[in-house]
This record gives sequence, C-alpha cells and structure tokens, in this order.
Amino acid sequence: MFEKVETYKLLAELRSRASRVGEGKLNILLFGAPGCGKGTHSEWLKAEMGLCHISTGDALREEIASGSELGKKVEGILTRGELVDDQTVLDIVAGKMARNPKAPGYLLDGYPRTLEQARSLDALLAEKNSRITAVLYFKASEDTLKFRICGRRIHKASGRTYHVVNKPPKVEGKDDVTGEDLMQRPDDNEQSLVTRLKTFYEQTAPLLDYYGEQHILNTFNADEEAASVKRDVQAVLKIGGQQ
Ligand code: ADP
Repeated sequence: MFEKVETYKLLAELRSRASRVGEGKLNILLFGAPGCGKGTHSEWLKAEMGLCHISTGDALREEIASGSELGKKVEGILTRGELVDDQTVLDIVAGKMARNPKAPGYLLDGYPRTLEQARSLDALLAEKNSRITAVLYFKASEDTLKFRICGRRIHKASGRTYHVVNKPPKVEGKDDVTGEDLMQRPDDNEQSLVTRLKTFYEQTAPLLDYYGEQHILNTFNADEEAASVKRDVQAVLKIGGQQ
C-alpha cells in the first residue's frame, strides 16, 4: 500500500510517529510519608493497570541484599532513614524505564523525593515525549504513620506484609503461607522513623507545591482503611468499580 507514497513523505511520517512514542503513557506518581500506604496501593495499581512499577526503595534494598558495591554504599543511609544521593536514584529509575520501554506507563513509588529529583524526572520523561499524568498524595497523620511503620512485619521472600495489631499472622512471627520467619525492616523503628519523617517534611513535602501548581496533584485521606482509599483513587482515575 506504500508503493505510491514518495519516500520523503514516508520518512516524515515515520519521524513524526517516533516522536510521539511516549505520548499517551499513564505515568502515576505515588507520594507520601513512610507508612502512608504507597506500597499497598502500588500492588493493585500495577496489577489492574499493567503499569511498570518503579520503587526506588525496593531497588535499593535489592542492591543491599545482593552485596553489590552500591548496596554497601547505601546500606547505612537506608538504616538511618536518610536520603540516597539524587544521581544514584536517577540512574535506577532511568535504567528501569530503559529496560521496559513498551510499558503502558510507569508507577513511580518513592521517587522523586527532592525538587532536584522532580526536575530530573520531568526531563527524563520529556526525552520520551511523556510526562507525569497524576500525582496521588496519601496524606496521613503522624500517629497513623508511627502505628503502621512500627507494627509492620514482612515476609522477605514473597514481600507479604503484616501488622502486629491490624493484620496479624495466624502464628506470631510466621508467614501464613510458608510458615517462615517474618522480619522487620531495619529502618522500621521509632528512631529511624523520626529521621524519615523529618526528611519527608523538609525535603519531599515541598514537591506538593511543585505538583499543585501543575494541577496534577490529588490528595487522599490515608488515615482511612486501605479499601476506602482504593475506592477514592479509582474514582479519581476513573477505573474499576467507579466507572
Ligand atoms: P518509605 O517510603 O517507607 O520510607 P521506601 O522503601 O520508599 O520507604 O524507601 C526506603 C529508603 O530508601 C528511604 O528512607 C531512603 O533512604 C531510600 N530512598 C528510597 N527512595 C529514594 C529517593 N527517591 N531518593 C533518595 N533516597 C531514597
């Protein structure tokens, strides 16, 4: 069907299509202090929307578990609840996007956390003719955050999470499915949490203005239980039962 089209016209069309590759992607950013529910909501969002999940926290913990040079460098930073440098996390995010170019969109979890990171992300997406579609801010009180973080227990192999009060395992300290030991993240304690919250308020919260000005910020009451927050998110994104 293209035989009769002049070559220069075909080339122009190809160039124009290539430049639109990133358009129409649904890039969602999960935003909020530690314990606000980013991990919980990322699970169903990635499953129901087929988005490529990029969690800088998970990626950094994988580096630590693998014993890599980078892992050794960042281990203390994570345990203390401080931030890893901007370039390191940018490399992680850019790498994951490059490995998943055909994803219908990216679900960014725990990134960006500084204004500098937000600007780098915008530039990275702009290179792909793409941009952030929506920022979901899970706003929770400090009491809620403390309660959730300090009671959180994790089955490392599967990533299943429990809470000693809200969602206890059938047998204390053991995973319901495998019976293996549950663990506590080294930064899930009151002392690290103080630093993590301070870091959030000082370095990350200013991004609320940045995204507010772009009219892509959606705030949810994350003190509510997860099912109710999920319904609110579905309503905003016009997906699931709310359609
Ligand atoms: P939480 O949101 O509960 O603090 P995460 O798993 O997202 O947990 O992050 C754990 C830790 O990993 C952070 O406290 C920080 O040390 C590091 N980290 C994760 N994402 C970033 C980021 N975007 N920039 C700098 N450090 C990060």
